[in-house]
Amino acid sequence: MLATRQVALGQPTVGEEEIEALREVFASGWLSGAGPTCVAFEGELAAATGTAHALATSNCGSSLHLALQVLGAGPGDEVIVADYTFPATGHSVMWTGATPRFADVRPDIGTIDVDAAAALVNERTVGIIAVDMVGQPADYDELAALCRSRGLWLMEDAACSAGATYKGRPAGSLADLAAFSFHGRKGITAGEGGALVGDDATRMDLARKLHTYGIAPAVSREGSSALAVPSFDMAGYNYRMSDVQAAMMRVQLTRLPALVAARTSAADGYAERLGDVEGIALPVVAEDRTHPYQSYLVTTDDSVDRDAVVMALRERGVGSNFGTYASHLQPVYGTQDVCPVSARLFTTQFALPMHANLVADDLDYVAEQLRAVLADPAVRR
Ligand SMILES: *Cc1c(COP(=O)(O)O)cnc(C)c1O
Repeated sequence: MLATRQVALGQPTVGEEEIEALREVFASGWLSGAGPTCVAFEGELAAATGTAHALATSNCGSSLHLALQVLGAGPGDEVIVADYTFPATGHSVMWTGATPRFADVRPDIGTIDVDAAAALVNERTVGIIAVDMVGQPADYDELAALCRSRGLWLMEDAACSAGATYKGRPAGSLADLAAFSFHGRKGITAGEGGALVGDDATRMDLARKLHTYGIAPAVSREGSSALAVPSFDMAGYNYRMSDVQAAMMRVQLTRLPALVAARTSAADGYAERLGDVEGIALPVVAEDRTHPYQSYLVTTDDSVDRDAVVMALRERGVGSNFGTYASHLQPVYGTQDVCPVSARLFTTQFALPMHANLVADDLDYVAEQLRAVLADPAVRR
């Protein structure tokens, strides 16, 4: 099969403005982490997410780890985690010595099923990590009510949800603490990077200390009149974002509304072109929230061999992949938890190209190729 066009599954949107910001940070001489450019980015990110405090970090995984530590999760504790996610969510719980318990998800939007979460609560449970599924927020009002009634904390894995809203509130502000990813496959990116956001100053101060080996960041000692020699009272980590990354992130954050609008328009374009195709269901967006489309996930029905569709699309120049992971099926966790909805999404969903640089000709091509693939008896059963 000769592809007449290549459409990438994902693509960052970066250009001259980011290059200019890199020139400036190079000229400043401060390239290492937690410096003045990180501080500036943190203020802008807190404002954009409607939170009191933001901490720039090395990635989403380190942000989740910091959050779990400031919330006090440790050996003997259980943390309820949304099952259908990139396994960084479950891994972060493992890093603290606590046990992840996997809750099944909603069949329509793939976010944590609140009843499934409630059924896992026991005397060892300390909190819940909801995941904004490829960007679409979970049911935070119901989750907050559950957590309040059972004395649990609530975390938001907002790795994919920069720019999303839930009942008009921005992603990042929907739980006690939220963790973002700025990996190259996310909506805004510095190649790698992350952030922790939250309103509680005590927790965020502790996270800041832990993210730089357990002392206050060097920038806080700049310009002091006496020699400041910090003393270490905890074994923190290096989970810092570099100021080079922060320079890029400041530009990316200003682009965020336009990038979300471009992805939304691509999603609308797919809906127009593919709404009538038999054998697949297009993504659903709950009425009270917005979807930033970190990925565009299509669900196949029983008549379609998902793996064959992905491979045939790739052959035709259309970037495609499976959706995301059913965590409870990953051997690392050795769990007895059962999540049939998540297990089904894991084998029936696939991703179509989604990024802010897609043009109408790309959407036409993808739709045409997907129709041709699904018309082929080789992908049917
Ligand atoms: C990408 C992703 C992560 C991991 O992000 P990193 O920045 O690579 O650590 C965590 N959770 C979810 C839901 C993700 O999609």
